[in-house]
Amino acid sequence: MKLIRPLVERLQPYVPGEQPKVNRLIKLNTNENPYPPSPKVLAAVKNAVDGRLRLYPQPTSDSLREKLARLHGCKVDNIIVGNGSDELLALAVRCFAEPGQKGSAACVQYLSPCYSLYPVLVATHGSFVNDAPLDPGFALPSTAKLRQGGRWDFNAALTFVTTPNAPSGTGYAREDLGKLCRAQKGVVALDEAYVDFGCENALELALEHPNVLVARTFSKAYSLCFQRVGYFVGHEKLIEALHKIKDSYNVNGLGQVAACATIEDLPYYRACFKKVIATREWLSKALTELGFEVFPSQTNFILTRPPGAPAKEWLQKLRDRKILARWFASSSVRDYLRISIGTDAQARALVKAAKAIMG
Ligand code: PMP
Repeated sequence: MKLIRPLVERLQPYVPGEQPKVNRLIKLNTNENPYPPSPKVLAAVKNAVDGRLRLYPQPTSDSLREKLARLHGCKVDNIIVGNGSDELLALAVRCFAEPGQKGSAACVQYLSPCYSLYPVLVATHGSFVNDAPLDPGFALPSTAKLRQGGRWDFNAALTFVTTPNAPSGTGYAREDLGKLCRAQKGVVALDEAYVDFGCENALELALEHPNVLVARTFSKAYSLCFQRVGYFVGHEKLIEALHKIKDSYNVNGLGQVAACATIEDLPYYRACFKKVIATREWLSKALTELGFEVFPSQTNFILTRPPGAPAKEWLQKLRDRKILARWFASSSVRDYLRISIGTDAQARALVKAAKAIMG
């Protein structure tokens, strides 16, 4: 008897970026923040490590939801917290898309290239993907163009938009995202994992439209990858439905403590965003001067086409010099490397390594 479902046997799992066992490497492959959490966050987590670890955490992260509601000017019922935003993206697929291989009710769609986890979530659930390409330069196509293309499904159960985009770093205007959200009849999840490094966000769309969710995470801008905390903002009906299917205690207690303390110390983080953005602009210019093609970025990484040799070779050559970057095999981005923005010293080391590689 077959023990494993054929769907799972066929599944191509998501491959996370390498977390190396040695720490001598300059790690620019998973878009972690180079700066540590604020001292107040570290103190809050340390203070919470005592006999209370025997207790279950708040099942729906209510203290955190209250703080987030105050921060975003919405109701607690507009927020669900997840074990990283990855958990919430998976819940969205399970909550809004039927399993099945045809019809809008089973259709999950996105504009490619985008976050490479989405197709895995869809395949795991047994729904199907409908994707359309982004415009040249990774720009958002207009709804008119999507309509003309004839392939895009305006009735799709769920549409993901990575905004700012990953892996390209491209920022999208709230107005254009609003047009897309209004044209879609199903749920639209705007994945704003990197939005704090950009110049505008689309949070208000989630509060204005009954079909829009905005996903945020504490991982990137708030230096908390280790703790796994993300959240959706959206209409209370969508949030209520998601709450029904989440695990009872989906967010660990120390993660909730860390995220609450983060919200109490936002000026610290805003200063870090500024540093990351300044380094991003410096690195983009320095690499451009060396002959790299660098796409404008609204995130804490850049997508770049290295000169001379294929991107995959560059990946190895940088690794030989103890620098980790990320390469994706998919056809639209296989000529590029995605490089996370580290400290100024790491950016300088990268430029030095690039010069050495180029001889
Ligand atoms: N969305 C995008 C676009 C991402 O790149 C990531 C991180 N890989 C996530 C969501 C998930 O972040 P987390 O689960 O750490 O909140």
